[in-house]
Amino acid sequence: MLDLLILAGFMVLILGSGVFATNIYCQIAYNRCPACGAMNAKRRSECRKCSALIA
Ligand SMILES: [Zn+2]
Repeated sequence: MLDLLILAGFMVLILGSGVFATNIYCQIAYNRCPACGAMNAKRRSECRKCSALIA
């Protein structure tokens, strides 16, 4: 029973760190459009969805 709890905790930790790493990666590689919230690559100066300027 304890083994199962440790395993479950470990799985949550792995999944959590995966989500965390994805968030970090998105923050590094992408900008979020302030107008519509779409993800845009850093090199873009205009949103690909609504053409708003991205600072
Ligand atoms: Zn936009």
